[in-house]
Amino acid sequence: MALKIWINGELFDKENAKISVFDHGLLYGDGVFEGLRSYSGNVFKLDEHMDRFYESAASILLNVPIEKAELAKAIKLTLAENNIVDGYVRLIITRGSGTLGLDPEPCSNPQIIIIADKIKLYPQEFYDNGLEIITASTIRNHPNALNSRVKSLNYLNNIMGKVEGTQAGCAEALMLNHNGDVAECTADNIFLVKNGVISTPSVDAGILAGITRDTVIEIAKETGYAVSECTLSRHDVYVSDECFLTGTAAEIAPIVKVDQRVIGTGIPGKVTKDLHAKFHALVRS
Ligand code: PMP
Repeated sequence: MALKIWINGELFDKENAKISVFDHGLLYGDGVFEGLRSYSGNVFKLDEHMDRFYESAASILLNVPIEKAELAKAIKLTLAENNIVDGYVRLIITRGSGTLGLDPEPCSNPQIIIIADKIKLYPQEFYDNGLEIITASTIRNHPNALNSRVKSLNYLNNIMGKVEGTQAGCAEALMLNHNGDVAECTADNIFLVKNGVISTPSVDAGILAGITRDTVIEIAKETGYAVSECTLSRHDVYVSDECFLTGTAAEIAPIVKVDQRVIGTGIPGKVTKDLHAKFHALVRS
């Protein structure tokens, strides 16, 4: 059965799901998106993803011409139409088609697109043995250039970091911010554990306010761990007892080597495993 793609209220077969080459989403990366996950037929943190989507759009002066509740319904419908119970959803809004100039003013038809598909997960080995990452030389966008809280269609900044990781044989790469402090990975947030305290860069480090990040902070606090959102340097990463990344697709993935330094004992740590087990229980509840 052909994958059905939802565009502006209509479902199209994959090969007929098309948008204009004049769409500023394509011409300039002018638009925003979300990546969501469905577990056993339930979209995890749907409200939080909807809020972030509308906030990203508001931040770039893009009006989403559909109510939140209606869009949430469309996500569930697209999953159901494609018989996807455990999968991934990509929600996109583009500025719409306009002229070849930058001005978004002539763009009158934003395209809202929902793609529901199978999810490509990290191999189990990453969770059993942990990942190795490097620090990319590409820094995260300066918040005054493009605030990282906007999940924009322009991911070139992260893509350049990702390429550096791939070239070094790593599935992820650490990105620093304009101050040289730890920001996040190319598509995941980062956490450290040191002497039982969990720390992660604060949102003003110029990062995406990850929904998995928020969930992990909540679980950690409920479990009784001390959690600190603070400025972190690469030194803090190198001398941490445990390091892990969080994201919708990755969930919680242990990191055991950074820039050739072995983290902790070089195997996934106790706190990381504890949080992942609790995260699993939550998403499946
Ligand atoms: N940082 C970046 C740059 C991302 O693109 C993502 C999403 N893939 C994350 C962090 C993790 O966010 P979330 O937990 O909301 O998926």
